[in-house]
Amino acid sequence: MKRKYEVVVIGGGIIGCSIAYYLAKEKVEVAVLDSGSIGAKTTSAAAGMLGAHSECNENSSAFFPFARESQKKYFELKDELYALSGVDIGYREGGILKLAFSEEDIHALNHLLVRPTVEWLNESEIRKMEPGLSPDVLGAAYIKDDVNVIPTRTCESFAKSAQTLGTQFFEYSHVYGIEKQDGNYIVQTANGDIEARHVVVATGVFSKALFKNLGITEELTPVKGESIIVHYEKPVLTHTLFHDSCYIVPRNNGKLIIGATMVEDDWSDTVSLQGVNFLIEKANTMLPAASAFKIAGFKVGLRPGTFDGHPFIGRHPEEERVLIASGHYRNGILLAPETGQMICDFILDKEIKSEWVEAFRVDRRQYMRV
Ligand SMILES: Cc1cc2nc3c(=O)[nH]c(=O)nc-3n(C[C@H](O)[C@H](O)[C@H](O)COP(=O)(O)OP(=O)(O)OC[C@H]3O[C@@H](n4cnc5c(N)ncnc54)[C@H](O)[C@@H]3O)c2cc1C
Repeated sequence: MKRKYEVVVIGGGIIGCSIAYYLAKEKVEVAVLDSGSIGAKTTSAAAGMLGAHSECNENSSAFFPFARESQKKYFELKDELYALSGVDIGYREGGILKLAFSEEDIHALNHLLVRPTVEWLNESEIRKMEPGLSPDVLGAAYIKDDVNVIPTRTCESFAKSAQTLGTQFFEYSHVYGIEKQDGNYIVQTANGDIEARHVVVATGVFSKALFKNLGITEELTPVKGESIIVHYEKPVLTHTLFHDSCYIVPRNNGKLIIGATMVEDDWSDTVSLQGVNFLIEKANTMLPAASAFKIAGFKVGLRPGTFDGHPFIGRHPEEERVLIASGHYRNGILLAPETGQMICDFILDKEIKSEWVEAFRVDRRQYMRV
């Protein structure tokens, strides 16, 4: 292993790999270190929805414009990454139908309908689009742009593209400390020390030890998510169905994902019968034909939660060449491109929208009005 890099990215999930890709495009010399295999942790459990609209519950925050920019980046990235890596990210059009089963549901969707990219469909319109839907559905908010990708392939595609452009990846290289020495940083790994001018912490929910080492008092809390992967004999669904945080996502590989549970503060990586029962019930409520699906497997992962549900993306409060990109909670796949771009812009001292810098800075809690 070479011992000195311009940038060391710690963590090879979708966030670390996207950061490496954007830096590599700018010809920056990068090494990515991961404790295990690239993309094998939370990233591998994600459904892959690019839900810029469907995941945004407040119209006033900086989250929507940031998420929307990231979502738009995928429109071009899918071809750009394929050309460099030969890996198809499984980009699937169709969008999301956020279903309403009651007047209360309809009311809860109102905030989405102010956006020009969201359309209300009544009962007969929606049934024309998805004939297999439950007869209890009253209507839906249709979000055409909230498409989906296959997360493991997307992460692999970012990593291989970065590698093609010169980034080096080191798997099974756990980082246990960062120290400052003569103006640079010494990244201490299980395979020896590496020197870096900039360090990026992109360790997802597993950031506690490094945050502590760096004097960052924020903590990431796990929100465990379980999903069922199914396949079908005849195609039954064209659009993603979404209700009450649960969804059925048709993928471009002949499979569907039924997800996902939300278990707070649970660090285990096992799938429970309770979780599976809950998901089957939710899937049948949306799509009665779901009971005929064949189970292909289960997925489980730990969403990296933050105190306000938004990620930490920015410079360390005291060390400007240490950058943080963790805590992407339910939306790391969606937010990966813009996070990669933003960290790259920080490192290259380029201009970044001040609303985004303020909204995602790691020490924002102390500046927030209560
Ligand atoms: C069930 C479920 C469904 C989801 N669905 C969606 C979805 O539809 N759309 C969406 O946008 N998001 C979704 N998410 C969220 C998304 O998966 C996460 O936000 C995203 O994967 C976080 O990526 P990451 O790179 O930060 O973390 P990770 O993928 O966990 O990567 C972090 C990496 O850091 C490495 N690491 C940790 N500590 C160290 C260390 N000390 N040294 C070296 N390496 C280290 C780990 O090995 C790991 O590979 C879902 C999540 C779950 C659980």
